[in-house]
Amino acid sequence: MSSSFTKPVPTPTPVTQPFWDGLNAGQVRLQQCNPCGRWIHYPRNRCPSCLSADIDWHDVDGIGEVYTFTVTEQPTAPHFSDEVPQKLAVVELPQGVRLTTTLVNVAVSDIRVGMAVKPYFDALDADTTLLRYEPV
Ligand SMILES: [Zn+2]
Repeated sequence: MSSSFTKPVPTPTPVTQPFWDGLNAGQVRLQQCNPCGRWIHYPRNRCPSCLSADIDWHDVDGIGEVYTFTVTEQPTAPHFSDEVPQKLAVVELPQGVRLTTTLVNVAVSDIRVGMAVKPYFDALDADTTLLRYEPV
């Protein structure tokens, strides 16, 4: 079943491009601040802890756990009417960052806070891969 609306897709910026390039290559990439070691997500120009611009990208395995979630029986926008129930989640990685995502390959009744999840690279086309999550 397809939606009659064109779904919105991410528009990479110079700051976020490495994150999206990573997903297209099947990798989760996070920024880490060199002076203070803090991991950073969403991508940005400066460390939110020490304000340094000395930040590098690193590949991580992306495995984490569900920090919180909600299930929507009504689509959050008309574009997602073919995706209900939407399993929206915030996943926390061991690096301390949290990512907003959607869960796949899991029944609504099986979703739990704290459950272990791994990345599911959802390639929409050659240029856009979304980071969704599924149970480990
Ligand atoms: Zn820092």
